Amino acid sequence: MAGRVDLDGNTINPITICMIGAGGFIGSHLCEKLMSETQHTVLAVDVYSDKIKHLLEPASLPWTGRIQFHRINIKNDSRLEGLIKMADLVVNLAAICTPADYNTRPLDTIYSNFIDALPVVKYCSENGKRLIHFSTCEVYGKTIGAFLPQDSPLLQDPAYYVLSEDASPCIFGPIEKQRWSYACAKQLIERLIYAEGAENGLEFTIVRPFNWIGPRMDFIPGIDGPSEGVPRVLACFSNNLLRHEPLKLVDGGHSQRTFIYIKDAVEAVLLMIENPARANGHIFNVGNPNNEVTVRQLAEMMTQVYSKVSGESSLETPTVDVSSKEFYGEGYDDSDKRIPDMTIINRQLGWNPKTPLWDLLESTLTYQHRTYAEAVKQAMSKTTAN
Ligand code: NAD
Ligand code: UDP
Repeated sequence: MAGRVDLDGNTINPITICMIGAGGFIGSHLCEKLMSETQHTVLAVDVYSDKIKHLLEPASLPWTGRIQFHRINIKNDSRLEGLIKMADLVVNLAAICTPADYNTRPLDTIYSNFIDALPVVKYCSENGKRLIHFSTCEVYGKTIGAFLPQDSPLLQDPAYYVLSEDASPCIFGPIEKQRWSYACAKQLIERLIYAEGAENGLEFTIVRPFNWIGPRMDFIPGIDGPSEGVPRVLACFSNNLLRHEPLKLVDGGHSQRTFIYIKDAVEAVLLMIENPARANGHIFNVGNPNNEVTVRQLAEMMTQVYSKVSGESSLETPTVDVSSKEFYGEGYDDSDKRIPDMTIINRQLGWNPKTPLWDLLESTLTYQHRTYAEAVKQAMSKTTAN
């Protein structure tokens, strides 16, 4: 840890980071990395602390004193400004960011991703604090290629599907497709932050994550989250596998995604934190263009990997088709394909993802099996007994 230097060979001095949403999936991994690999201090703000409690106690942990948890709902807590004033850098991760909420709780989604982020931007701007704000790859919406005939030769041309921070348009569906409430709120907060930079000199970096996955993502319904809850695809499929039920493919599972291991992704965020001169004023895609699959292929691969790590045989019929209306309700829509252009992050931070999809699924599903298999078995036997 001693003698850490930035990408330009300058010594990195320890700073204080106010991390909002630190108790979530990404926050927990970022806190872990900051505690184990750096000397920075974290003021961790969230309404939950379960995913970082291993970092907060016991008091004998080597980083005790460098991480403080503040149970604060940023919607309505005047302590937020004080914490931002104490920090050198603010990282804002707080959001409602689960697709099942976008069309069923559009108001909460818009408030969380736009209105609740406004004071954070304002306090940073007024107090001259640097801001790293988490947006989403979903701001790109659909690809241009999604509107071409399926047999068009143009579909082979990357210009029609690779998503570039400084060139691609943001293409959302009609207002009644409330799926896009999240993307639209995130886009507007990006524009506001960009404008604060342009007009008032706010030092900012915007991160667009492309399907970061790994341990501690979301929850397993009925075990550490609501029984009727619908998490993101990794946790949905993990839940199906743990319960020995077929994985549900929404609208045939044709949509394509690129998945990146959380541990690769937080390396990129640490580079942004420690190289402000290279990161300020930029929007960065953070994803792994080499890990592209359809959702159907993801289901097939997760089934194989789970069978390997659990020692259990796979179901004869491992997947079942379900309509998006049945699964998510009215107003759902989907991103067709998400391949990140890596030019800007490569040029500014020299960062590249490392972990292939099979490997990241193997470590993640090993964690899911170890953490949940017994609890799911017990919950299922209780249900059968009743
Ligand atoms: P997460 O839901 O695990 O974490 C978000 C955290 O914010 C939660 O712990 C939640 O309690 C907290 N939070 C929400 N509202 C709050 C409030 N009002 N006050 C205090 N805390 C609040 O999600 P994540 O996957 O860790 O995502 C973090 C950020 O990254 C989000 O902004 C999300 O939009 C963005 N993102 C993530 C991904 C991904 O692949 N995981 C993809 C695109 C965008
Ligand atoms: N999906 C699916 N079955 C599930 C959960 C999700 O087929 O049980 C699909 C979903 O429709 C989308 C993709 O998986 O096409 C990824 O969904 P996720 O919730 O992870 O978020 P997104 O990438 O859409 O933001």
